[in-house]
Amino acid sequence: MQQWNKRTTIFKKFQVEMAHKLVTDYPTPCNRLHGHSYTIELGIIGDGLDNNGMICDFTKLKLFVNQIKDIFDHKTLIYDPDILKSDTHDAAITKVNYNPTAENMAEDIARRLLKYIDSDLEISIRGVIVSVNETQNNKAVVQIDVE
Ligand SMILES: [Zn+2]
Repeated sequence: MQQWNKRTTIFKKFQVEMAHKLVTDYPTPCNRLHGHSYTIELGIIGDGLDNNGMICDFTKLKLFVNQIKDIFDHKTLIYDPDILKSDTHDAAITKVNYNPTAENMAEDIARRLLKYIDSDLEISIRGVIVSVNETQNNKAVVQIDVE
């Protein structure tokens, strides 16, 4: 007899417009201040469903999306040491302690999402997945599993 192991994941997608400037040890256009229309997708991997047949009410995720938009949308993401070298005096700057690549943004958002949903969900979860599409063709995905 085959064993079935069901796992349900919910996703929420949203967009942010953001500028950034990468710091690399090789020359690339990414080192210039420039922007992207990011598509970010949040996934929550459930460990069963609550009494309402949900992992998490999508309304609750919308509040989290608003928090993330406050940090990233129409902002300029700058890695701290680099800020002194840039002349973005007029930009709405979000200072981060990482190089603002899609990979690092996805991890940052995934960690924030884990903290956010950890507070008062009725069910336990297996983990979260966050994808950050920098362009239509370039995407980074981070999954953090709960032990
Ligand atoms: Zn870029």
